[in-house]
Amino acid sequence: MITETPRSMGVYIHVPFCRQRCRFCAFYLEIAKPDQIDAFCLALAQEIALHRQNQITQHPLQSVYIGGGTPTVLPVSQLVSILQLVQISWPTEPSLEITIETHPSTVRPSDLDRLVEAGFNRLSVGIESLNQQELASLGRPGRVRDAKQVMRAARAAGFHNINLDLMYGLPGQTLQSWTETVQSALELEPTHLSCYALTVEEGTELARDVARHLIPPPDEALQIEMEMAAETIVQAAGFERYEISNYALPGFACRHNLLYWTDGDYLGLGPSAQSYVDGFRFGNVADLSAYITALAAGYLPLEERVKLTTDERNREALIFGLRLAKGVPHRLIHPNTSQYRTLQLLATKGLIEWQDDYVCLTPLGRRYADTVMETLYLALP
Ligand code: SF4
Repeated sequence: MITETPRSMGVYIHVPFCRQRCRFCAFYLEIAKPDQIDAFCLALAQEIALHRQNQITQHPLQSVYIGGGTPTVLPVSQLVSILQLVQISWPTEPSLEITIETHPSTVRPSDLDRLVEAGFNRLSVGIESLNQQELASLGRPGRVRDAKQVMRAARAAGFHNINLDLMYGLPGQTLQSWTETVQSALELEPTHLSCYALTVEEGTELARDVARHLIPPPDEALQIEMEMAAETIVQAAGFERYEISNYALPGFACRHNLLYWTDGDYLGLGPSAQSYVDGFRFGNVADLSAYITALAAGYLPLEERVKLTTDERNREALIFGLRLAKGVPHRLIHPNTSQYRTLQLLATKGLIEWQDDYVCLTPLGRRYADTVMETLYLALP
């Protein structure tokens, strides 16, 4: 039961379908089949109906993010219906940010027109690389020219806020081919860029090939050079690096993703989606059949639901907040705690710095962010 004025929140919808699995991908997903898509959409409607009963829908919405998977493997009519259902279920803020992820080979210009008409105002395109051989090495379907065509069509349709996802440290990728991808991506005039280092996730085809010595693991030193090169090029084009992996032109930081890094509330819908609302963390089962079965029986498909203590909330706010370039306000860090002493230790190692009223990662700290976060996680508040 919500007793205070509810904080605004975001809704994330995980569409668990792709046309094929990329070799590096460890996300929960199914290869899209029409009957499964229909069953998923029905279950999603039921999930929203159940959340209406528990009053989560009283939180005003500041963002909707439809991700996956590849949401645009769904017919556009179903995507529009999902958005309409969300919009009638929650009060929405006037500046509601509505993002949809797409893969360039799954969306037609006419689909983009209809998405804009329905109210989607932010597009996130997973292009990863603008080098055909590198795309092939990832097992990504489609061609480099698809990405260019989608960008043209998206602008023509009326998307003014477009993110491109890029990935570095790919098999066979060189510093030069990476910087060419970054420069070519900027020529497509996105408003936002996400640059991720390739990681080898357990259970993926990539991990199997690395284990069999068919390809080398990503070269960490080269990835650091690539990250630095991207920062230089992208910042010179007027983008701000506002989070470890994310760059935006002024005013185009992703409102939805900022919720994750600023202790904000978000509700995840769909198989495997995670939520954080009113101090509770909960997650859906990562299995489409189990998800559909639970909802058909009238239950939320939750795998776990935990109320965080104040100390745990503060710890998470610190760890996630440090991903932001501006860092975390001092007031969230209490002196005479183990976490404070750990931060001081990390500062002596050049990984953390105090700037005005904030604590943030140094450039070195950004490079070793996972280690910094792990160290802070283990330090009791
Ligand atoms: S398109 Fe994205 S979600 Fe789908 S398999 Fe490839 S990386 Fe994974």
